[in-house]
Formats: sequence, C-alpha cells, structure tokens
Amino acid sequence: MSYVVWFKDLRKNSIPIAGGKGANIGEMLTLHLPVPNGFAVTAQAYGEYLEKTKIQPKILSLLKDLDVENNDKLQAVATKIQNLITSTPMPAEMAEEIMYTYEMLGSEKHKATDLVEPKEVFVAVRSSATAEDLPEASFAGQQATFLNVRGREQIVSSVLACWASLFTARAIYYRVKNNFEHSKVLISALVQKMVNAEKSGIMFTVNPSTNHDDEIVIEAIYGLGELIVGGEVNPDLYIVDKKTRDIKKIEVRKKDFGLFRNENGENEKRPITKDKQERQVLNEKQVKELARLGKKLEDHYKKPQDIEWAVEKEEVYIVQTRAVTTFKPHTIERPDIADETGKILLKGETASAGVYTGPVKIVRDPSQLNKVQKGDVLVTTMTTPDMVPAMQRAGAIVTNEGGMTCHAAIVSREMGTPCIVGTQHATDLLKDGEVITVHATRGIVYEGKVESAAVPEKELKVEEILHHPGADIVTATEIKVIMDLPDFASKAAATGADGVGLVRLEIMIANGGIHPAHFIRQKREEDYVHLLKEGIRKIAKAFAHKPVWIRCSDMRSDEYRNLQGGDKEPHETDPMIGWHGIRRLLDEPKILRAEFQAVKELHDEGFDNVGIMVPFIIRVEELHKAKEMMREVGLEPGKEIDFGIMVETPAACWIIEDLCKEGISFVSFGTNDLTQLTLGIDRNNERIAHLFSEMHPAVLGEIAKVIQTCKKYKVKTSICGQAGSKPEMAEFLVRQGIDSISANADAVDDIRQVVARAEKKVLLDAERKK
Ligand code: PEP
Ligand code: MG
Repeated sequence: MSYVVWFKDLRKNSIPIAGGKGANIGEMLTLHLPVPNGFAVTAQAYGEYLEKTKIQPKILSLLKDLDVENNDKLQAVATKIQNLITSTPMPAEMAEEIMYTYEMLGSEKHKATDLVEPKEVFVAVRSSATAEDLPEASFAGQQATFLNVRGREQIVSSVLACWASLFTARAIYYRVKNNFEHSKVLISALVQKMVNAEKSGIMFTVNPSTNHDDEIVIEAIYGLGELIVGGEVNPDLYIVDKKTRDIKKIEVRKKDFGLFRNENGENEKRPITKDKQERQVLNEKQVKELARLGKKLEDHYKKPQDIEWAVEKEEVYIVQTRAVTTFKPHTIERPDIADETGKILLKGETASAGVYTGPVKIVRDPSQLNKVQKGDVLVTTMTTPDMVPAMQRAGAIVTNEGGMTCHAAIVSREMGTPCIVGTQHATDLLKDGEVITVHATRGIVYEGKVESAAVPEKELKVEEILHHPGADIVTATEIKVIMDLPDFASKAAATGADGVGLVRLEIMIANGGIHPAHFIRQKREEDYVHLLKEGIRKIAKAFAHKPVWIRCSDMRSDEYRNLQGGDKEPHETDPMIGWHGIRRLLDEPKILRAEFQAVKELHDEGFDNVGIMVPFIIRVEELHKAKEMMREVGLEPGKEIDFGIMVETPAACWIIEDLCKEGISFVSFGTNDLTQLTLGIDRNNERIAHLFSEMHPAVLGEIAKVIQTCKKYKVKTSICGQAGSKPEMAEFLVRQGIDSISANADAVDDIRQVVARAEKKVLLDAERKK
C-alpha cells in the first residue's frame, strides 16, 4: 500500500483517502486551477500506524469510561494520548516514503524559470478529516496546521502532530457527546509547498459589503496575507464586474510594511520601499486572472466563494477556497409607508422635476441599454453620459447614486425628463416590468399608477418654456442657457437666452457612440471633426448671432467605457481628479486639434458666433499651449474667436491674474467642480450630497476674487456650473458684477427675474449710499 498520494491523483471523491481538504484540492486541480503542489499522507497510513505500533488499544483504554464533564481528567487524558502519538515513531518504511516524497516535491522544476529548487522546500502540513458525514465541528480543535516546515524529520514529526490533534480535549468531548466512535474517525495529513508570497490577499466572489452578487472583490497586500486578517495593513481594493471582468473600482492604499518569510522560515515584518508603498499591488492582468479563477470556482461549487490567493514570481496561486457563509442575496424590504398620493417605494433627490408613470427597466450594465424602449422608466445604479441615447428614450430616470451635478441630473434636466437620483436601492427594490410613478418634483417613487399625481407636469413645463413669460425682461447681466444635446437647440433658443454659456462636447460625442481617442487611433480625425461640426452647427444656427461657447471635450476615464474604443480607457483610482480636461487633451493633442478644427471650419461657414473654452485649467502653460494650437488651425484667440477658460479648480482661482495676463476673452465658473475641489466633496456621492453647497463662503470667496481680477484685465466673467440656476447664487453674482449667467433651459425665466430684481436692488443700494 502506498502511504502517500500526489495531489494530482486526488479527485473530489478522495475523502476516504485524503479527507475533505485533500479532496477539495484534487477537485481544484481537475479544474486546472493553479494550486501549490503537494501530497497527502493517506488516512490509511494513519490507520496502519495505529495498528503496526499497537497503540490503538492503549488509546481506547485511556478513553474508556472517561467522564468528559470532568475537565481536569479530560485534559489529562487528551495530553497523554497526544504525547503517546507524537512520541511513538512511525514504521520506518512509512517515514521513509513520506521523506522521499517530500524530497521529490523539493526537486520539482519551477514552472517559470526551470531552475531546480533546493531539495528541502518549505511546506505547510495540515490535517484533513475523512469522515464526510460528520459535521465539521466534530473535529473542532484538531484542525492543526503547521506552516513553514522544512526538513525530512520535521515533516514526519509534523505529520505525527497532525494525527495527535485528533485527540484534543475539545475533539474528544465533542465525539463523546455526539456518540461518534473514536476509532471510526481517521485523518490525513496534507503536505503542501508554501508559496513564498510576494503578494497575497483574499477574494470574495460576491461583494460582502453590499451583498451584490455581480461583483468580485479582491483585497491585496505585499507579502503574506496574515496582515490583512489582522487589520494591520490596509489592503488595496479591486472591484471587478463578474460578467465582463471589467475592473470597476481600484482603491490603492498606503502599505508601509509586509510580512515575509526569512531564510530560517520565520515570518518577519519588513518595511515596503517608498516607491512601492502607494503603488498598486496587482497589475490589471493579475486582477483579471484572479477574477477569472474566482468565477470558475464559484461556477464549479455553485456557491459564492471566499478564496485565499498568493503571487510568487508573478504567478498567481489559489491557496484555499470555501463557501461564503454570510452572503445573503440582496433583498431590500419594501417600506410600508404611504402618503396622501400613494404607497412610497423610494425617495431621492430631484434632479429634474416632473411626474411620469411607466414600466421599470433595470439596466445593470450598459449592454442592457437596448432593453429601454420609448416611455420606459430607466432604473440604474448611476447613469454615465454614454447612456444618453437610452436616456432619451426613457420617460423617467431613477438612479441609486449621484447628486445634483452628476451627469444623469444634467442631461435629464436638459431633456426635461423627470429624474430622481441618489435613491440608493432602486435597482434592488424595483422589479423589471412593474409600473411605478416617478414623482420627480417631490423626489418620490410610488408603487403603481397614482391617479392624483397624474397631472402631466412634464407637458406643462414645455408649455411654460414655449411661452417664456420673462423673455421680454431686459437685464444688464446677460442670461444664457446651458445645453449639450443639439436636438434640443430650438427648445433652448425659445427661452430667448442671450446665447449659450456651455456646450459640453462629451455629451454630443457620447451620442455618436465612438470615443474620440478611438477616432484618432484609427486615423479617422476627419470623421471626428465631421461629427462635431454637425452637432455644433445645429446649435450655432438656433442661436444665430448670439455667442455659443463650446467646451473642449472633458472626458473622465470611467464615464465613456461603453463607447467604441472605450475599453482602452485607463483604470484610474479617482477619475474625477484624473486624466481629463486640458491635461488629457495636451497628452492627446490630435483630439484637441480636431475639436479646434471643427470650430474653425464652422467659422469658415459663417458661424463666427462660436467661441471655445478649455476645461480644468490649473497652469498658465496649458492655456498657452491651447492658444498655440488654435493659432495653428488658423484662428487668432481673442481676436478672431472668443477664447476662454473654465474656472473650476482652486488652482485657477489662485493664478487668475497670470491667466488673464496670458490673454483670454472670458472665464466661466464651473461651480460643480470648483465646489467639489474646494470643499473636498465628491459631487457624485449621494451620501455627502447634503454637504455640497456652492454657497459655501470658500467657494463664494474664490468667485469674488476671480471676478475682481478679471475686471482689472477686462476679461468677461460668466458661470456655467449648476449653481447658475440657483436664485441665491444668481443674486450673489450680480452683486459681484458678473457679465453673464448661464442656466438650464427650464430655469432661464426664473433666473432672469431674479437677476432683474437683484440688479434693481444693487442700483437702489448704491443710490441710498450716496
Ligand atoms: C462644472 O464643473 O461646473 C462644469 C460646468 O463642468 P462639468 O459639470 O461638465 O464637470
Ligand atoms: Mg467641470
């Protein structure tokens, strides 16, 4: 009889030979998973050991008539039996076979390098219980594991120690209490190569913090994984889409030290070098490979898995896997509340007012966007601009995440589509196909069709827009409109606005379905220029002879992944403050040049009302380079074309004087980003949305300073952030002497009246002071 079996020869039915853990390893190997190699000292070897050494009768007599309630006695017997086993040597041939196999394990060639490793490798020796029908708890206390064991004799004594661990006081007590016969329980010892982990961590095939089963969560640190469990080092976090294997989120944390094995097999803490501390532990390939393995394990075991993994010499290994026991599929209870209108399902923030009743279409990832038919209620985690075509078909929009300045809010306001953002649970609580009433004006989603809310507020709003009661009010401050979708140009022009203060090119681009970087990679600059010209022309025509300020594309890397070529976008820790705006356009100058080219060609067609502005400026050089490029395409900034910048970073506020000196026609406050960056509040995070206020004195102080400086240099000032649609901000800006205010189409009338009143007050105050 062979006392040992290589892991590769184990299968899932090998429990009687190698115990549950051994069979599990065999099963993983049949799936071709990268499991560190090793062998099982069989349960039969243990049986033969008891027989040949004749110690079984001694053990059984010690256990006979033992009163397990008498703890002193129980402890004494347990210790005696364990000592008996550890001090009784194995039969020589058995020990020889184990030692020989251990040496074979050590002389295996390393996969990657083909070098023969030293014969005496470090191994883990673990006990693996055989009795499948016994609950795991029957072995409580005997799950002995010895890590970093090296040397022939040490292996043999560790195997004996594993066997002995069948007789801890707890294990004996449990068997007696549950009437299991001691002699029926066998044990195998698994001898497995230790991965000398350069990196390691854990992986859950469901998101344990949100219970979302469409996400895989990986945590990673340098060195051995123990420090994660102990909470001593903050691991990097990677969230992967289980289906597409796209990396949805990466959070890199600072890792000052790690636990590594030294020459003697002892674990020691070592500092992580400065250059690596804040670097991502895993590269994209490793994250995706781990996610692939995790999904494979989950598919095979048909249950979410909790997996330990390690990386040695850039090779990924699965060390252990077990079912996640705490996972509950996400079932959010429907609240049992109602108001005079109906049964309330969800509450969120009003992103775009109006009321709409229709069937729910839940979009969990952009591949499902086609589900949304005209008139459906689009329900999703968070809209990105590349969802615009589906948003246009939707009768209403409800999202889990996002605040007032997120793109769902911006685009839905422009389209006049009722939209509620930040409901947190919409995708979990609502069901596909069920009819709901989105009362966006109140920020409430009601169950079913609610008669008393059925006032077609959306239509009323359109009527209002067409009448524009305030259009004949004359204000000294120009009132402009913000618009992004060329198809809505005539609706926006009907407001009688004095021009367009912001056209976000990225929304127009998203509607076209192709990422600008993709156009460039495919050498299709001309197609890109054509797309932009078609869109901008519609707006320039609708606003003939009034200024239309186009903003160069400001594309965050996470928002446009679903466009053609979007899969090449980098995965950034925080795309909001990452590679977008002018910093990106200067790295990819062909995109910027194409955008300028489109504007130049429109000027040639006679649309010289089109001006341009540059987003996310933080340095004078950026402005300088952008102006140079404008000249290269044939328009002199400030002379032949209105050329401005967005003021949306605190940096731009601080260096405003230098920016004015460099030469600009105008500045436009992007208060969405300016507030985000000044207050340190993520504008898309609904949890802290209540703290997001453009009226914070710090933001107002920045605006006031910039307006003052710009006046000195005769640079025009404007606002195109969401705050321009707020009466209190409009009044503040008038008092500061801003030249123009841009608002959403549906807010233009109100803002015009607010501005008219504020201007009168300013005049009156001045008169009274005389
Ligand atoms: C802003 O930041 O205020 C702005 C208008 O730009 P966006 O909302 O597109 O970031
Ligand atoms: Mg911005």
